[in-house]
Amino acid sequence: MTFNVQLGVKIQMSKMIETNEIVLCTARSRWTRDIAYILRSPNKVIWNVVLPSRKNWARKRKPTFDRAYRLTWQRYHRLSDHMEFHDYLQKEFPNMVQVVNIGTSVEGRQMRVLKISSGQPNAKAVWIDGGTHAREWISPASVSYIVSEFVENRAAHGPYVAGVDLYVAPFVNPDGYEYSHAVDRLWRKNRKAGGSGTCAGTDLNRNYGYKWGGAGSSRQPCKEIYAGNRAFSEPETAAISRFVLANKDKIKAYVTFHSYGQYILYPWGYDRKVPPDYADLDRVGRKMARAIQSAGGPSYTVGNSAATLYAASGGADDWAKGAAGIKYTYTIELRDNGAYGFVLPAQFIEPTARDAMAAIKVIAEEVYNLP
Ligand SMILES: [Zn+2]
Repeated sequence: MTFNVQLGVKIQMSKMIETNEIVLCTARSRWTRDIAYILRSPNKVIWNVVLPSRKNWARKRKPTFDRAYRLTWQRYHRLSDHMEFHDYLQKEFPNMVQVVNIGTSVEGRQMRVLKISSGQPNAKAVWIDGGTHAREWISPASVSYIVSEFVENRAAHGPYVAGVDLYVAPFVNPDGYEYSHAVDRLWRKNRKAGGSGTCAGTDLNRNYGYKWGGAGSSRQPCKEIYAGNRAFSEPETAAISRFVLANKDKIKAYVTFHSYGQYILYPWGYDRKVPPDYADLDRVGRKMARAIQSAGGPSYTVGNSAATLYAASGGADDWAKGAAGIKYTYTIELRDNGAYGFVLPAQFIEPTARDAMAAIKVIAEEVYNLP
């Protein structure tokens, strides 16, 4: 149904509304982000349409009325609020958003990928993931912000954002994320049970199957960088590898968000070497860093993982490049520089998420322009 209301704005409704029901709907206009608030009285139709200016809405993102979902970027939310947000997007934007369960975590939680479609059959795709390390809460928060911008604020970002498909896994490690909220704020690994007398958890970012078990990883279960007993021993990394390999011809970029340190890192992580096309990776990495600063963000250091930060074998980025053959693969370490480290206060969520979005816009443009 489409209704014309005051201001000449067309309001598109996805369902019939009940008497006095308060509904949220998207205005198809230049105020695409604006939300209308509509009341209907029993005997006659009275439209009470409130259209907050896009500027205010974008800056504040504060609920001025009942929101359709609980997720915000003003605090860190539990997994259930994020999943409600995914379900909402799929329901409200059925032509654009599809929630796919690609597997099950150690503790039985869904491994979700959000497929965000450009609507173009041969579009190239960008893989984005977050939450690999449980304590890095800014990562899934920023990834969810990117999802919101791509879906709910699409028109503000131009042709490249609209021209690529996204595959987004906001929580690579859902069990660890919940554990870091409920039990141990600084938990890093997944929640694989340890044998008697040993420790729980595998470092998922040492468990991918390219140069697995090398420098910067450990065979000892009690270490923070425990690589697991073989490559892809964990259901979380196994699910991701299956999905990515099944779509590898479409996926031209692979960006995995971590914290902290403000780095844009490209392969290799297993050794202080670079891939043959590293000049492209370096160029795009520097372009992302410039875009972040132009958007008001801080300085991010660009370089290859092992030389810039430290050696880490079995990482997602090395696997995406070396095994899946994806051109642009990056690990982005978000804010901060160490003042708060993993326990980044909530006031930094939105500015940091804008860093992440600025970087992804650069990636979208590069991917869109690939031959
Ligand atoms: Zn990390």
